[in-house]
Amino acid sequence: MSEKFDVIVIGGGPGGYVAAIRAAQLGLKTACVDATLGKDGKAAPGGTCLNVGCIPSKALLDSSKHYHHVEHEFAEHGIAVKGASIDVPAMIKRKDGVVKKLTGGVTQLLKANKVAFFHGKGTLGADRAVSVAPVDGGDPVELSADNVILASGSVPIEIPNVEVDGEHIVDNVGALEFSEVPKRFGVIGAGVIGLELGSVWNRLGAQVTLLEALPDFLPLVDADVAKQALREFKKQKLDIRLGAKVLGASVNRKKKQVTVTVDIDGEEGEMTFDRLLVCCGRRPHTEGLLGEGCGVDLDDRGRIAVDGQSRTTAEGVWAIGDCVRGPMLAHKASEEGVAVAELIAGKPAEIHFDTVPWVVYTDPEIAWVGRTERQLDEDGIEYRTGSFPLAANGRALASGQGTGLVKIIADAESDAILGVHIFGANASELIAECVVAMEF
Ligand code: FAD
Ligand code: AMP
Repeated sequence: MSEKFDVIVIGGGPGGYVAAIRAAQLGLKTACVDATLGKDGKAAPGGTCLNVGCIPSKALLDSSKHYHHVEHEFAEHGIAVKGASIDVPAMIKRKDGVVKKLTGGVTQLLKANKVAFFHGKGTLGADRAVSVAPVDGGDPVELSADNVILASGSVPIEIPNVEVDGEHIVDNVGALEFSEVPKRFGVIGAGVIGLELGSVWNRLGAQVTLLEALPDFLPLVDADVAKQALREFKKQKLDIRLGAKVLGASVNRKKKQVTVTVDIDGEEGEMTFDRLLVCCGRRPHTEGLLGEGCGVDLDDRGRIAVDGQSRTTAEGVWAIGDCVRGPMLAHKASEEGVAVAELIAGKPAEIHFDTVPWVVYTDPEIAWVGRTERQLDEDGIEYRTGSFPLAANGRALASGQGTGLVKIIADAESDAILGVHIFGANASELIAECVVAMEF
């Protein structure tokens, strides 16, 4: 016999746990299934974001920023600090504490909202049956529901001839766990994750080289912002090589180093690092999720196919977050989670993908919402732009943060804001106001 629910959510990340809590708040009998095991050996709902993504990376970005300020910026303010040092294990311990607090908080929230939590791997079968293989072994638990929400998230994309061993060659998980600062740190992929984690170890003294296959830097970002950001990051001594496609990597265990074969503008060469981070993008995590007869189709890019309201091809089965189309961002996953829970409860819900903000937590930060000039040109939309350099902003100069700009793009006729692009201190906070401006 299977236990029956109104809603079962598979995946306990920012999409899944938020959907489960909202569904329960709307009076639906709800279960949440998540397989993540925390460093303490206990269930750790919160997904990639809380365990090995947004939150731990932001914790390390913050710690490394403090260190960098002491080392390089305090003197300008007349503050002399002698003998500053970095204790990497202490920094990692603080990060682990933040993660534990938050995953523990999610466990409490699920409980407080009367969501039944199952710590195991869920597989969807026919007619919304869900079989859960418990993480600690034991017999599978059989569940079923009127509605199932798939929120299985994403995993790093692997590249040929580069095998992640968790020690010399790492993905985001390993790059959040180093016990010392690597001298030479190689990063494959100069996207959001590469820039953020590269910045952490660069600020702590590593020589960081980012190898990016594409000829353009941050192609999704506004061209003026990307140009200034590239210049600034190079000034920070991030060695960013564009048009550099990594073909393979081999580990020399004796020498504790990794040699990378890379094609830079058609010429093949080798580079050697102490540690190598692979962050070439992420792909939907669907392994073991879709069982026999579940009726859920994937799209041509391996994502769970959904309509504009997150319905999959199977009746009563929905999918949200990183495992479906749209930006792989935590707040986008959460928005979809709330919307789906409300749709299931018979309420109206709609998501405006045009106003989902993006942030790159470098220093300065890059944040934007809406479209770039390039996208508007492609769409044939007439627009006007206005931009202002932070070098002429009093508040920015007073706090020593005069690098960057704010650019607003508006419809040529109606003046409706079509995009806002910021490169500057606190861009992540400023962009929220721009989201509100666009929404209203
Ligand atoms: P996930 O958070 O991936 O959660 C899915 C959960 O489902 C996981 O716990 C997984 O174990 C579980 N699961 C999967 N399949 C099953 C199954 N069959 N049974 C049971 N459980 C299952 N986004 C931002 O918005 N801001 C940031 O600053 C940011 N920084 C990031 C930094 C890094 C290093 C990384 C890697 C990502 C970052 N992201 C950031 C992206 C963000 O983490 C994701 O967009 C977000 O976690 C997606 O949420 P989700 O709920 O869809 O999936
Ligand atoms: P993101 O999608 O923001 O996480 O960025 C990942 C980046 O990795 C993209 O800009 C890709 O172009 C880049 N990338 C993917 N494969 C390779 C490779 N083999 N060598 C160098 N860069 C790569």
